[in-house]
Order: sequence, then structure tokens, then C-alpha cells
Amino acid sequence: MNEIILLKQGELVLKGLNRHAFEDKLQANIHRRLNGLGRFRVYTRQSATYVEPMEDSCDMDRAWNAMRTVFGVVGLSRARACEKDRDAIVAACQDYLGDRLAAARTFKVETKRADKTFPMTSVQLSQYVGGELDELYPNLQVDVHHPELTVRVEVRDYAAFVHAGPEPGAGGLPVGSSGRAVALLSGGIDSPVAAWMIAKRGVALEMVHFFSYPYTSPQAKEKVLELARLLAPWCGSLTVHVVPFTAIQEELRRSCPEGLFTIVMRRFMMRIAQRVAQRCGGSALVTGESLGQVASQTMDAMAATGAVTDLPILRPVVGMDKEEIVRIARKIGTYDTSILPYEDCCTVFTPRHPRLHPLPGEIAAAEEGLDIEALVNAAVAGIERIHVR
Ligand code: ATP
Ligand code: MG
Repeated sequence: MNEIILLKQGELVLKGLNRHAFEDKLQANIHRRLNGLGRFRVYTRQSATYVEPMEDSCDMDRAWNAMRTVFGVVGLSRARACEKDRDAIVAACQDYLGDRLAAARTFKVETKRADKTFPMTSVQLSQYVGGELDELYPNLQVDVHHPELTVRVEVRDYAAFVHAGPEPGAGGLPVGSSGRAVALLSGGIDSPVAAWMIAKRGVALEMVHFFSYPYTSPQAKEKVLELARLLAPWCGSLTVHVVPFTAIQEELRRSCPEGLFTIVMRRFMMRIAQRVAQRCGGSALVTGESLGQVASQTMDAMAATGAVTDLPILRPVVGMDKEEIVRIARKIGTYDTSILPYEDCCTVFTPRHPRLHPLPGEIAAAEEGLDIEALVNAAVAGIERIHVR
């Protein structure tokens, strides 16, 4: 096999004694993502992970794209393997990086030599390969400080590799290395970004979606499932808990002062999400709330919604502007789906004058006549679990 993928690990190299646990998680996630793309060998040496195809039928293009969405990888390169011989290395550079060598004006060669029995030092090999390429490509000049192209040579125990340097990976920590949480996924722009950001920090997720049929349509639910599908390459396959929310909303419309409707409704969301977390071993809730974005996202409103759960509520986009959130949504590929024009349960009964600074006493009064336990139990009993890959 003459091509492999080299992955550079990020922060996890800093994790001291936990490092092996992190590496194992990363390798397991990598294997999961390579499923169905052929037989690969995956191994880690000196904080680099090697993804090596073991048969000709391995789909390297799809493997490459899959590796770009693996959290815990800061950089990745596709590399050509060749014999550990200086002229074989020059030939591999010509063959594999020829187009780029022909297009660049300045370059340098950098060598890493893990195999200390190789007869040249790193510097000697860099100089040799650089000299040969300089002769072969008249357009090229050596620039060791700011080269347009860096040709990298790695001499390892059983082969040498050449590549043109890493491109940025997904960053973060391997999913599953920071525990599990439940993300509240609406059909909007913010919540998929929030879920992605928390998955990036190594958290395995389950999703909760509140669905208000017939006020919200089956297409609105399908849209949320599509968002979960778009997140699955990053987050791993996941379960979406679809909660029937109509009965609670209708009850609140009947009994709740209009200005407090959204806050009281959001308190129900948190209670139900907490129950889902208890069941799936989640130790936090994740929302796409951003400070001041809407009436229910003032600090007082967040305090009121957070008060019904003991779990920490992670709000990774709380300090971000909409444009910043949109930028991430575009990058991770959820934006186009998020802006499809289907209604969310939150928009169905929107009060004309929502209270921005609800007082605890008012909320208690608004909830006084409700059988909260029964409403929550009924919603939880009606949950539909949909597995998304
Ligand atoms: P988004 O773009 O994520 O929909 P938003 O600005 O529209 O956010 P809200 O509708 O107030 O904000 O919702 C705030 C957060 O509450 C969402 O980011 C999401 O985490 C959660 N949420 C809202 N509606 C639902 C829903 N129908 N199902 C699950 N979670 C929801
Ligand atoms: Mg929303």
C-alpha cells in the first residue's frame, strides 16, 4: 500500500497519565468512522496516529474526509509511502507532490527520523532531497523561513513517507473522553452549533427535541432529524429523543399568564431533558442560548429555567453574536438545513409581551395549579427514540 493518512493529536498529548485512555478513545472513534471503507490498520506512535490501508479496495478519499471530522485530531496529512532510500524518497516526492512542486516558487524539506539506523541524519537527508528537488524544478528556490511549500519526509521503522504538511483537523478532544450530556436540539441555527461545540470538547451526546404536532409539522421533525444526521459524523451515531410537547403547551396556554408562557414552557423542557439525562447517564444539559438574543435568554430568564434542574446547563454560544454562530453553522454544514422555513414549538405560542425579568414568586404562582409531575411523566412516557447514524 503506498498511501497512508497521518493524524496529529492535539491537546490529548497533554493529558499525562490519562493519555492512554484518550488515545484508546481516539482510535476507537477512528475505527468507527472507517467502518465500511475497507480494512485499515490504525496505530499511534509518538503522538502521531497512522491510518494505513490494508487492501487495495480501501476508499482513501472517503477515509480522508472522515478523518477531517474526528475530534482530537489537530492536523492531518495524506502521505506517500516509499522505500527507505534517499533516491526512492526523491522519486516519491516527484511522483506524489509533482504538481505542487511545479507550482511553488519557494520550498524547504523537513525530515523526521524515527528510525535511528537510517544512514543519514535528518539534516543530511533534508539537504539531499532539497538539493535534488531544487535541480529538478527550476521554478523552485529554497526558503527555510517562509516557504510556500514544505515537503515533509518521515523515516519510520518500516517505510519512509513524504507529504506536503498537515492541514487543520477538527481539533478538540475525542468524543466520549469527557462523559455524556443531553443536548436540546431545536430546528434553529444555534442549537446544532452548541451541540457541536460541546461534542468537540469530548462529550458524547444524546439529543432531545420537543415536538408539538399538529402545531408543528412532520417536516419540522424531519428537519431536526436531518440536523442530527449532519452532526453524527462529528458526534458519533446518536439517539434523538422526540418528546410529545403539545399537551403541555396547550395546558400552559390555558392556565399560564401570557407574559410568562415561554419561561414556564422552558422550565418544562429542562425538567424533561433532565429525566432523559437520568435515563441515559447524561451529566449536563446543552442549549443554544445566547445572552440577550430573545426574551427568554436574559440572565434572569436563564436563572428561572435553570432553577428546575440540578444538572449544569452548558451554553457554549452564550457569549457569541449571531454572525459568529452562523459562521460555525456554515463550517459544519448545518446552516442550510437550519434555515429551512419550518416552525419550531417555541414559535407556535409566542407571547406578544414576554417578561424579560420574571420574578421567582410570579413563576411559582403561574405553576401553582399545574400537576407538574403528571405532565412531565406523560411527556416522558410518550418519547419516541430515533437512532441516527
Ligand atoms: P435555535 O436557533 O437553537 O433554535 P433560538 O435562538 O431559536 O435557538 P430558542 O427558541 O429560545 O432560541 O431556544 C433556545 C434553546 O432552547 C435552543 O437553542 C435549544 O437548545 C432549546 N430549544 C428550543 N426549542 C426547542 C425544541 N423544540 N426542542 C429542543 N430544544 C429546543
Ligand atoms: Mg429555536
